[in-house]
Amino acid sequence: MNQPPTRHRARKRFGQHFLHDKATIGRIVDAIRPMPDQHMIEIGPGLGALTEPLLRTGVTLTVIEIDRDLAQRLRVAYATEPRFHLIESDVLKAPLDSLQPRPLRLVGNLPYNISTPLIFRLLELDDVQDMHFMLQKEVVDRLIAEPGSPDYGRLSVMAAVKARAESVLRVGPGAFSPPPQVDSAVVRLVPRAPDFPVPEGPYLDQIVRLAFSARRKTLANGLKSVLSRDAIADCDVDPTTRPERVSPAQFARLAESLAAGNQTR
Ligand code: SAM
Repeated sequence: MNQPPTRHRARKRFGQHFLHDKATIGRIVDAIRPMPDQHMIEIGPGLGALTEPLLRTGVTLTVIEIDRDLAQRLRVAYATEPRFHLIESDVLKAPLDSLQPRPLRLVGNLPYNISTPLIFRLLELDDVQDMHFMLQKEVVDRLIAEPGSPDYGRLSVMAAVKARAESVLRVGPGAFSPPPQVDSAVVRLVPRAPDFPVPEGPYLDQIVRLAFSARRKTLANGLKSVLSRDAIADCDVDPTTRPERVSPAQFARLAESLAAGNQTR
């Protein structure tokens, strides 16, 4: 990589915290396990902290970067690297569904200001092999949370339905420049089909959103606009319980009931 000409000033609005700790970068790349000849997508390459070591492993890399200045630096730095491709775009608007080749391997030290909506969007993608993302530790805790935990919520249920999630590395603020105010962690998400039926359509999302928008209410109370107490009980779910105690499989049964038109009686 050619050296960039001038220092880049981190832009807060793009959630820029650049990794500089070599040991941490090495551990992240090891966790990703890139194989030569694989194709990967990196979201938010920034100054190339992960881009450079990933390319050294022999992978072909498509990076998606919103910051025009950073995109230009990368373009110059990798002008002669045929395995490097740049999409200058907001990842939330990028045509992720049509990216090739599939299955996708997605990686990135994600901008924390958009990490939750981005993860929801990425979990919807078809034909993904795996994803490795650096996120706020709090978001990783929510992604891997089990029912009964205070971190368990909408993100945990939707992730559990779509993927196996594990936290693979914890990273302190000192590994970044400028340092963020929170701890970070790397999550591995491996998409898989759930071992329970989930209805097609928006029903699961609808039920889970509604239930967790009234976290402290009983399920019967939170869902009363869409499912009666009896309909909830018919799904083998206790209507007096709170949403944080309801498993992903139980939410899927409630969604099936909603899909079947078994609404308020
Ligand atoms: N990968 C670099 C590293 O680890 O040092 C940078 C990580 S920094 C936390 C996040 C990166 O995502 C920045 O380069 C930022 O410009 C970029 N970014 C922020 N919002 C974005 C968006 N909506 N779409 C694409 N890239 C974005």
